[in-house]
Amino acid sequence: MIDLHTHSLVSDGTDTPAELVAAAARAGLTTVAITDHDTADGWAEAAQAAQELGIALVRGAELSTLHDGRSVHLLAYLHDPEHEELQSLLARVVDDRLPRLRTMVELMIEDGVDITWESVAEIAEVGTTPGRPHIADALVARGVVGHRNEAFERWLHNGSRYYVKHFSLETGQAIRLVREAGGVPVVAHPFATKRGPLTADAVRDLADAGLLGIEVDHRDHDDDARALAASLATELDLIPTGSSDYHGTGKLNLLGENTTAPESLARIEAAATSKITVLR
Ligand code: AMP
Ligand code: FE
Ligand code: FE
Ligand code: ZN
Repeated sequence: MIDLHTHSLVSDGTDTPAELVAAAARAGLTTVAITDHDTADGWAEAAQAAQELGIALVRGAELSTLHDGRSVHLLAYLHDPEHEELQSLLARVVDDRLPRLRTMVELMIEDGVDITWESVAEIAEVGTTPGRPHIADALVARGVVGHRNEAFERWLHNGSRYYVKHFSLETGQAIRLVREAGGVPVVAHPFATKRGPLTADAVRDLADAGLLGIEVDHRDHDDDARALAASLATELDLIPTGSSDYHGTGKLNLLGENTTAPESLARIEAAATSKITVLR
C-alpha cells in the first residue's frame, strides 16, 4: 500500500516526522511520502524512522503556488532540496506566512473573534511552515471551536473575508524549478470543490509547462472529479496518484484511505533525475 501525500508538524500536521512514519507502518503502508508544505525540513527525521521501521520513504513537499490568481497545491517528489532558486523562493514563501497569519488574526480581532496573536504564534512556531491550521488550533485551544474544521468553515476558508494571501510562486514557475531540481511535479487535488477547482484547460496548460502527474484519488474529489482527473491523466500522459493527505489529528483523513498504484510510483522514480532516491 502506497500513500504519497502526508503532513507532519513541520508544517500543519500534528505528528512529528518520526511519529508520522511510525503511524504509516502501523497502518500497513509499504511506502509513505512526507510532503510538508513548502519545506523539506522533516526529511532527515522521517528517513531515520523509515530505515528503523523498514518502510519505504518518498521524500517530497507540497508547494503553495498560484495559477491565474488561484491557489494550486503542487506536490514535488524526489527533488534536490538544495536547488538554489527553488530553495530561496520556498524560503520566501515560508517567511511570508507568519506576517500573513498575523494580518488575518488582526482582522479577526477587529471583528470580535476571541483570539490573540500570541496564542497563534506559540503554536505556529513549533514547526517550520506556519498556516491557517495554526490559527484554527489556537481557537480550539481557547475552546472557541471544537475542531480545526469548524474554524475553517466559520473564518478561515479560501473565500472568507479574513483570508489573506501569502507570497507564492507561479505554478508554471514552480513546475519548471521542481524539474530543474530533478524532481517530479504532481498537481494535488486539482478538482477539490471547496478550494476552488481548476478547469481541465488549466491542467492542460500545466502539462504544457512540464507537469508530470495528477492526484486522482483524494478525499476531496467526488466520483466526477476522479473520473475527470483519470481521463486527463490518460489524455496528457500524466502519472495518476492517490493519497490520504493525512494531517494527524488535524483532519479526518486516515493514512492509506486512498493509495497509489505501484506502476505510478515506478513512473515517478523513473522520471526523477536528482540524487534523491526512494529510501528502502
Ligand atoms: P494555508 O497553507 O495557510 O493557506 O492553509 C491551508 C491548509 O489548511 C491546507 O493545507 C489544509 O491542511 C488546511 N485546511 C483547509 N481546509 C481545512 C479544513 N476544513 N479543516 C482542517 N484543515 C483544513
Ligand atoms: Fe495542510
Ligand atoms: Fe493540499
Ligand atoms: Zn496536503
